[in-house]
Amino acid sequence: MRLREHAVLSSIAATLAVGCGISKPPLFLALETEHFEIYREDGLPPACDATGIIFEDYFRAFEDYLDVELPGGSKIIYNQFNTLSYIAELCNLDPGQGASGCYDPQGDVIASAYPVHPHEIAHAFEHRVGGFGAHPRFFEEGIAAMLGGGEAYDRPDHRVDATLPIEDLVDDQAFVAFYNSPATGGGGALYSTAAGFVRYLIDTYGKDVFLRFYASVKDATNGATVKQRLGAAVGEPFDDILTTWRGSVQPLVDDLSPTIPGCDRPADLTGAAVDTVDPSCEGTRLRFDVPASGRLDLLLNPGGKTPTIQLFSCQRGSVMPERDLSVNGPVRLGLDVPPGAYQMVVTSAPIDVAAALRPVTIDLDGVCDPSSVAAVIGTEDLSEFAFVRRWGSTEKSVAFDVLSQSTGRFNVTSIGGSSPGTTPRRYYFCPNVCVNNPDGQCTSDDFPPHQLPDGSFDNTHRVLGAPVAAGDLIHFATGPRWEQDWGYSVRLSIE
Ligand SMILES: [Zn+2]
Repeated sequence: MRLREHAVLSSIAATLAVGCGISKPPLFLALETEHFEIYREDGLPPACDATGIIFEDYFRAFEDYLDVELPGGSKIIYNQFNTLSYIAELCNLDPGQGASGCYDPQGDVIASAYPVHPHEIAHAFEHRVGGFGAHPRFFEEGIAAMLGGGEAYDRPDHRVDATLPIEDLVDDQAFVAFYNSPATGGGGALYSTAAGFVRYLIDTYGKDVFLRFYASVKDATNGATVKQRLGAAVGEPFDDILTTWRGSVQPLVDDLSPTIPGCDRPADLTGAAVDTVDPSCEGTRLRFDVPASGRLDLLLNPGGKTPTIQLFSCQRGSVMPERDLSVNGPVRLGLDVPPGAYQMVVTSAPIDVAAALRPVTIDLDGVCDPSSVAAVIGTEDLSEFAFVRRWGSTEKSVAFDVLSQSTGRFNVTSIGGSSPGTTPRRYYFCPNVCVNNPDGQCTSDDFPPHQLPDGSFDNTHRVLGAPVAAGDLIHFATGPRWEQDWGYSVRLSIE
């Protein structure tokens, strides 16, 4: 399932007016759930029941978050088309804009190119805040993009772009003009910026205050009115809100979603029992809790297949921004993350998941536990150690010890892309644990960000390090000179 779609999302809450050209392709009823009728264009595969669970999870998550209700008995009509030119026409879009879907409030009808399109489902709910009807386009798209996720960005570091002219874009005419401009429109940061601003307002002033403001601009299209009502709702002039927001550290676009569907269910993974997660159809979710220590290791065994996993915090969005973890052998996945509820989404193939009773010890900022248990890699049962750290605060160093059980070269691969701040810049091989001065006592390899000619950073990249033998202890550390700005994720193996 495409939970994070980085393609152009040219979705607008336009009235669906079909023009001359293409006639509606034939559809079949693929699935019916409590709140959805799901149709697919002839030729698309049938839907399975697990897809219906995903739809209902989104329904509950969005209804709950926005505190609205759909009228009892009514259903959202979800049409998946394969004919993209028909979607473009249906959604009043230029075919060149890369239409992926839209929501028509008349009859609650969604048209989409995808089997599940959370952004468009979210429109059905934001449309009901303060009564049924439209809101300023900038905020409609901001809420749908924040809840539905997967928006485009245009900054190399993938953070929210706060330079967009929001003072203009809160006016519907200006928004549409910006959207339709080839230079700045739907393919750029417009939706992710709107989502970032909405998330900021909710985090800063509270969701209730934001939703009261949103209800107060029902049918408002004029920028001056929108600014005045936002200022009145939060008790600060609009210009001051914007200045403060622009001066703050912007989050990663992948982190904007405040609610993850399915998180309302109790944890599936409890204790060390093995759970088999079978991603029938679009994907399957596993809920688990990270304890107060913030450390939980998961033992993953794909049994010869290659499933893909994504991790989400139920409170904070994605855990491994931009990237999925492709599991091609048994791996110990060390999580060092804020305590709370989490969810793993598995696609492509089944995987066995168990919680490790004793997480690998992580040393922070030079505080080392000499009795630390080393993660073992290079055995048949546990070929790899993957480490994911997400706290959001700056730290000076992170270290842990890895015991090699085979002979080869130490292989380090980034998980979360190689943007600055997402991977360690250097790692060390030390003869023993708790080394205070790794620069003097250990050999090291650099792990620099890999920037492409267009200024963006390479997705994942890999460094083959020094030769190691079975029984070697590898002290993996970022070192005091290599600050991380919010954490990192790497996978370590012997090749
Ligand atoms: Zn939209």
